[in-house]
Amino acid sequence: MKFVFGNWKMYLDFDESLVLANQLATESYNSNKVEVAVFPNYLAITDVEMSLRDTSIRIGAQNCAWVPKGAYTGAISAEMLRSANCDYVLVGHSERRYVFGETDSDVRKKLEAVLDVGLTPVLCVGETKKDREEGKTEYRLKKQLMKALDGINLYSNGLIIAYEPVWAISNAGVGEPCDPEDANEAHELIDLEIKQYLDIDVPLLYGGSVTANNVLSYLAHDSVDGVLVGSAARKIETFSNLIRTVESM
Ligand code: PEP
Repeated sequence: MKFVFGNWKMYLDFDESLVLANQLATESYNSNKVEVAVFPNYLAITDVEMSLRDTSIRIGAQNCAWVPKGAYTGAISAEMLRSANCDYVLVGHSERRYVFGETDSDVRKKLEAVLDVGLTPVLCVGETKKDREEGKTEYRLKKQLMKALDGINLYSNGLIIAYEPVWAISNAGVGEPCDPEDANEAHELIDLEIKQYLDIDVPLLYGGSVTANNVLSYLAHDSVDGVLVGSAARKIETFSNLIRTVESM
């Protein structure tokens, strides 16, 4: 079974999110072959969840606060996401880290908040272009993983890790995909590294300019258990085509 997770970011407004959810609801994917989840904006989450309730498609959130409740203007807690029937929460997406300035320590607190309410975090890690040019890819991945995972209690919630090289993430469809061999190398490193902290199997997803045309080149590697998709998840044609491609493996 492979994972195809669609991060709708702030690409789709409320109406567009619901249209896409309703279109997805008319498709039927083989959940033995592919686990599909979508990550709508907060406003649309409950309606998208209702639209997809009778399907195998799961719901995730793009972010959350690290505290459960209180005087935190503008924040949404993991507990609120749990009560909205989410299964997953993205933690440490590169746009949160590099656009909104989230630190490794913020990521750790959010990871714990998600685990505390019984949801499954999708921890995103990845090097920037500068890291890569300076030969610091390994350093960056090890540091992000250590800060996130050292001494963590996953309970029985599980964890998914997405390797997303920041330079490979597209902006509205324009991106520079990572060479599948390089993605495989990073996945093998992550796999080895997390064994220091965890004794469970952690699915590893690749993310960064994935489309129906290149998805199989990533999934051809055993180290890649699925993909996290941004731009190609915005439209029914490209997203469904990608899911069908994975389903046909
Ligand atoms: C992402 O940001 O999670 C992502 C993978 O985006 P894209 O597919 O657009 O590169």
